[in-house]
Amino acid sequence: MFIGHFAVGFAAKRFAPHSSEAVLLAAPLLADVLWPVLLLLGWEQVRIDPGNTRFTPLDFVSYPWSHSLMMLCVWATAFGVIYYAITRYWLGAVAIWIGVVSHWVLDWVTHRPDMPLYPDGARYGLGLWNSIAGTMVVEIAMLALGVWMYVRATRAKDRIGRWAFIAYVVLLLVIYVADRFSAPPDNVGEIAWGGVAAAVILIPWAWWFDRHRSA
Ligand SMILES: [Zn+2]
Repeated sequence: MFIGHFAVGFAAKRFAPHSSEAVLLAAPLLADVLWPVLLLLGWEQVRIDPGNTRFTPLDFVSYPWSHSLMMLCVWATAFGVIYYAITRYWLGAVAIWIGVVSHWVLDWVTHRPDMPLYPDGARYGLGLWNSIAGTMVVEIAMLALGVWMYVRATRAKDRIGRWAFIAYVVLLLVIYVADRFSAPPDNVGEIAWGGVAAAVILIPWAWWFDRHRSA
């Protein structure tokens, strides 16, 4: 899943209006932020295998640290505790915890059975990715709902608050559709560096437009 994770981050604003949207997005995206780094370190493995599911050419060979349910509970707790220690905002800490763990649940719906319960443990997945239309309908509907909740929970203070936010949502949709209909990546390095670049751009960008919107 891709934009479905952003949907969770946007929806979270309603429950934790005083947390920065950058943090609320970083939580559900955390697994996919760690993953490219761990690929580059060689701790996790992916294989390019066109047709693995209809939606993605990737075969997720091993990702125990970024994508097992157990490790996501550990990351969620660490992220939530650090956030609470800094901000004393418990609603934000709860939103972070749920956000980080939600990644597993959403990936479990879309992936074929490759989502581990714990490192090297049993792997599960419902395989929504076997249907391109089904995947897109579910994810775009989720993003629409999440964005709607964010729009209801915040108001633009100026033009940056409006247009930098709208551009962000449009870009997510463009990346989502373009990624599906472009050729498979040439190598794992391309996937990993693409993931790092996406995180470095998309999380600070959310911080930027969110600062220009009031809760
Ligand atoms: Zn993921």
